[in-house]
Formats: sequence, C-alpha cells, structure tokens
Amino acid sequence: MNINKQLIKFLDKSSSNYHAVKLMSGELLDSGFVELKNNETWNLDQGDKYFVTVNGTALIAFDLSGYSQEAGFKIVASHTDAPNFKIKPNATKIKNGYITLNTEAYGGLINYSWYDRPLKLAGRVVAKENGKLKVKLFDSIKPVGVIPSLAIHMNRKVNDETKFNRHEHMAPVIGQGEDFDFKDYLTKQLDIKPGCILDYDLYLKPVEKATLVGLNDEFITSNHLDNLQCAYMSLLSFKDAKSKGGVNVYVSFDNEEVGSMTKQGAQATILKDVLNRISMIKGRSKEDHLVALSKSFIVSADNAHANHPNYAKFNDENHLVTLNGGVVIKYSANQKYTTDALSSSVMMDLAHSAKVEVQSFTNRSDSPGGSTLGAISGSQVSIMSVDIGLPQFAMHSSNEMSGSSDTEAMYKLLLNFYNKELIIESDSITIK
Ligand code: ZN
Repeated sequence: MNINKQLIKFLDKSSSNYHAVKLMSGELLDSGFVELKNNETWNLDQGDKYFVTVNGTALIAFDLSGYSQEAGFKIVASHTDAPNFKIKPNATKIKNGYITLNTEAYGGLINYSWYDRPLKLAGRVVAKENGKLKVKLFDSIKPVGVIPSLAIHMNRKVNDETKFNRHEHMAPVIGQGEDFDFKDYLTKQLDIKPGCILDYDLYLKPVEKATLVGLNDEFITSNHLDNLQCAYMSLLSFKDAKSKGGVNVYVSFDNEEVGSMTKQGAQATILKDVLNRISMIKGRSKEDHLVALSKSFIVSADNAHANHPNYAKFNDENHLVTLNGGVVIKYSANQKYTTDALSSSVMMDLAHSAKVEVQSFTNRSDSPGGSTLGAISGSQVSIMSVDIGLPQFAMHSSNEMSGSSDTEAMYKLLLNFYNKELIIESDSITIK
C-alpha cells in the first residue's frame, strides 16, 4: 500500500494516544513481536523481537537480531501525545438550558482552530468489574459536540483582536436540557453495568478524516500529524529493517507536549530501564553496558516548522525549510535540539546513501523557538543524538498540514539508519 495511505489509515484510527499505542502494539504482534510486561520477569529466549508499553500511552520495542556483546543500541524516539482538550472530573456545566463539557487544555494548542468543527470523545475509562479496576478504551465515533463561535455581528472586532478565554468561551455544546450525567452516558456507550465507572482520561478529537490535499496531492492535512507522522514512519521502518551490528530500538513517549516529566514521558527512566534490562539479561557486565551505551545513537524524530508562505519572516531566511523538501535536521546553539556536527553528519551520510533530501532548521536568532525529546531523553541516558523531523505548517492546530512526499523520505532515512551498522569509535564513526 502507498505509504501515505497507510499513514492516513493510522491517523484516522488513532482517536487518542491510547488508541495509537494499541494500534502500534497490534502491528508489532502481527509482525511476530512478543509483548513483555514491566511487572513480570522478562524471558528473552522467545525470539529476537519484543515490545513493552507503559501506561498504554508509551511504547518501546527492540529487535535483538543484530545483538553482539560489543555493539550498541540504535534508537529512534518520537512522541504519541498531541495538544487537545481534556474532560474534567465534573464533566458538564449546564448553561441556559444547554449542556456543555467542562474541559481543560492539554499542551500548547491553538484556540481558534478548535472552533466550529464536529468533535468526538476518545481516551480511556476505568470501571470496576468483578472486583477489578479495568481500563477500557473509549471512542464515541460519532461527533458529540461543537465549540461554536460568537457571530461577527456580536463581536465586530473578531478578526482583529479576539482573545479566547478557555474557561468562559470554549466549552463544547453537546446537548440541551437541565440535567446530564456524563458517567451514565459513558456507561450506556460502553454497555457496562451502571455504577461501575470510577474515572476517565478523555479528550476531544476532531472527527474530520486525514486527507491528501493539493492540485497534485502534495500535502496531507490531519489532526495529530505532530507527532504521529514521525511515530508511525519510525515504527514502519523499525519493523521492516534487517537489524545488524547492534540492537534496534523503537520508542514513542507520552507527554512531550507538557514537558515530558511523567512516568511515561522522555524524562522518565523507561528507556534507560529497558536498555539496562536487555544488557543484564544478555549477561553484560555494568562496564560492558556502559561501553555499549557509548557506542549507541538516538535519533529524536519530531515534526519541524516549514517556512510559511503567508508568514515568511518567521523563519531564519538562510534556513527556509519547505514542505516536500525532505527530512529536517534541527539545530539549536543552546541545545534545545541535541544535534551537533558529528550527529548531523551521521544523518547526512545516511540520507545520501538512502537518496533522501535533508534540510536544516534553526530558529531566528531573536526567537527562542520550541524544544523536543532529544535533550530530555539525553538527560536520562547519555547517548550521541540528533534531532530531526518532518516539515509542517500549523503545528498544534487541531488540523495540521505537511508534505506528502516527506512521509516516504522519513521512512527511507530511518530504514537506512536501522539497516546500517554504526561503528562509533573515540575519533571517528564508520557507517556500513
Ligand atoms: Zn512534537
């Protein structure tokens, strides 16, 4: 199947990051991977390919077929979460006969992009059944509400200086009436016994499908392109690679959009713990493990800002990243991105042999810009690292836009990374 069609299918089924991780887990199981549990002793004699999930929102997979006592780890890291609105515990507010949802923003979302579009609910619900607290994924599938705009006739300045107050003005309208019990609604939707639902992690999600756009299908628009485009391309390349000269590792963390400092985020020890466990079970000494880490490499893959035709001055004019211009290597003198001349050279060499274009991104010198996973993950495990991504517009809008040919460029580059042997020595790196 065409790689963008695969991506679009994945995006449409990923109603929340719980759903995305479940889909990724399913694809790994179908490809012969064995699921491990963090709370069980690991048996790595069941083949070469394993994965483990954390909280249902982060996933780490590894392929031991290239394992040797001396070789390091080749890792690609991404994130599963995206800015959106989370439903609060007391979920509804009745306002003048309308039932509205009580929400709180998750991450740095663009307010206006959430207005006037059909929204559904997705995430997880916890219910007590037969004495056990069980997690159930929930997707309302049908749209349940809209955050309606105020008419321009009532706010003539709407196009000039509108401020969006999330508490006052951004409650989705989901019905009419004076009484509504959100947990009863969930109980009926999930078809479970009344009174069993204890709590939920539920989010709003636009129902619009991901789609190719443009005179020649040059673009893709979708909710959650940041960062499922990278998360999914790294998963496909990881699954398709023939691992040699090291352990291939795939990781997608949660909570990048809110600083990563959670048990399933890049600031957690989950990646470090998995690498440790692999070495311990394989009989490496602590010393051998540290040597292996020093021969390892992390690619942090998270989408990047393309130069916008209508807002051209917001980028450094010497680093005009374009949609469909290939994979972006991100630089920051202050190390918000981990790229240095050595790690970028590894990427450039791999891109050259994969026949993939690369372009470089820096912020304007008068703008701090954003940051991403590489530096945070690097604070837990000290491994050579590069920050890359796919160029996009409208980052953190409820509907983002990227280039369709870039999807394959990322796949090819990461496949080449996973297929190659990286021999990292104190004064040089050999890629073969
Ligand atoms: Zn991102």
